[in-house]
Amino acid sequence: MRLDPASLLGGWQELNAAATIPHCVDNVERTGAIANFRRLAEAGPDGPQGTFQGPWFADSDLYKTLEAIGWEAGRTGGDRWAGLLSEVAGLLERVQASDGYLNTYVQGTPGKEPFANPEYTHELYCAGHLLQAAVALHRGSGDERFLTVARRVADLVVRSFGEDGEPLIDGHAEVETALVELYRETGEESYLRAAELQVERRGHRTLALGRFGSQYYQDHLPVREATEAIGHSVRQLYLAAGVTDLYLENGDETLLHAMERLWDSAFGTKMYVIGGHGSRHRDESYGDPYELPADRAYAETCASIAALQWCWRMLLATGQARYAEEMERALLNAIAASMDHTGAAFFYSNPLQLRTGHDGSSEDAPSERLPWFGCACCPPNLARLLASLHGYAATSDASGLQLHLLTPGAFSGATLSAVVETGYPWDGDLRVTVSGHGELAVRVPSWAEGATVAVTGARVLSEPTPGAYLRVSCEDGATVRLTLPMAPRLVRADERVDAVRGCVAVMRGPVVYCVEQADLPDDILVEQLRLDASAAITEERGQDDITPVRLRLSGEARPHETSLYAPYDPASLAGTPLTFTAIPYHAWANRGPGAMRIWIPVL
Ligand SMILES: [Zn+2]
Repeated sequence: MRLDPASLLGGWQELNAAATIPHCVDNVERTGAIANFRRLAEAGPDGPQGTFQGPWFADSDLYKTLEAIGWEAGRTGGDRWAGLLSEVAGLLERVQASDGYLNTYVQGTPGKEPFANPEYTHELYCAGHLLQAAVALHRGSGDERFLTVARRVADLVVRSFGEDGEPLIDGHAEVETALVELYRETGEESYLRAAELQVERRGHRTLALGRFGSQYYQDHLPVREATEAIGHSVRQLYLAAGVTDLYLENGDETLLHAMERLWDSAFGTKMYVIGGHGSRHRDESYGDPYELPADRAYAETCASIAALQWCWRMLLATGQARYAEEMERALLNAIAASMDHTGAAFFYSNPLQLRTGHDGSSEDAPSERLPWFGCACCPPNLARLLASLHGYAATSDASGLQLHLLTPGAFSGATLSAVVETGYPWDGDLRVTVSGHGELAVRVPSWAEGATVAVTGARVLSEPTPGAYLRVSCEDGATVRLTLPMAPRLVRADERVDAVRGCVAVMRGPVVYCVEQADLPDDILVEQLRLDASAAITEERGQDDITPVRLRLSGEARPHETSLYAPYDPASLAGTPLTFTAIPYHAWANRGPGAMRIWIPVL
């Protein structure tokens, strides 16, 4: 699978290789994540010099960066990072204890004992990221050194927490998907069993309550009984991805049914329109159903990445288009917004509104993207996702090829290969040229009412239906042309989302739009805008590469309020007619700090 480097998604992969991965490497060096290993590797008889640096899960920043390097090596075959990999592999080999244990926070901090505080030390979380890095490096470049270290860690997990071991789970789910992936890579069934035990043991309130209670780590109910997405959103979504991975390997239908129910809760009542998850800053958690404040959205970048990873597994489990559609929503909106056009500045939280006068001095809710974070989970998570993005675009089976992300590139399966040409998501025309024989499936988005198909050398098996797959039986050399309607449209939220009641969001295809202060006259604030929902929306093209399609909206600017509270008087609400520009949400905050909003009140 290969994405066209000139396309939106393919371009991100190129930017990731050129800028984001090197930026992550620089920062894991600068912040001490590599030095934590050197310090232990070079320790003399008096023990290590200096102190551990960074948060207790700093090892995972390095591991995620290594994973990105592994996928990138598989994508391009380059060996740019050979020197770094050689040094880090040597460090890991030297620091790893004789029993396989490896964690520079616990090993490098006096008084810490392995697995003594699973609620917060993230030891299995970090181990999981090491396993995933090792799998990526092994698949990408055949590297055996990291795989050997990772297997020793996994073997320790099997011995310590396997069938006959302690019933310990980690406060932060992550190791579940990693153990399944390592099982896939090595065929070692005890890793799969260890992942099953991690899942089975969660939900029995074995973790200490801590500040935020059992729900925070999804330890309040067994996964088959939990009906609501709850607690720390990244932990919830990684856990769900791991449970779905287990279903894919062991076929336990009760796990799939539980995940379908949980998915309905997360994506049906708790997801932001940008594909963000988590509405509370305090504990980085999901809120109540429909608690989705635009301005205080947490919507951590890692949560959208985790949501994409879970949806991918649900797609593999069921073949249903809705899972691919939610992958696309997250990718083109929340995830795309989290990185700027330099590939070296990031949002951690992704609000849907920034107020005039917002205090952006905290990295918790900044006004602009930042180069790095004290808790730096998001940037290297982006790097590993983007380096592996081509792997999410299409699948194949004995019957043929299925296209999930509608992006230009070359995709191949056992019986069928396809070259896709399109300007999507800016244009709705997809031209697919097929080699081989078999069935081609192309996802038709749920909003694409009126999509049409034209074929040569092929037979349409099912017409394009929104929210399903167009299916075409193809001969060698067949062409399939799918045309999707791309007119801008207005979207409303369920009435129970009180925070945006009376507002609409503007979407065009899969892309969510926003209004930024930078596009308004100086004397009109974003907060004064009202949208005329009955007025036509016009398109402006070719302004720049970041916003190739801008929209012109009509409405009015309400007068500035003169007091915080005043007698209700409908006559005082009359405004001045105005047309204003909307840009793709993912392009916001590229012109300095300023107010922004997605949800606009209607007249
Ligand atoms: Zn994060």
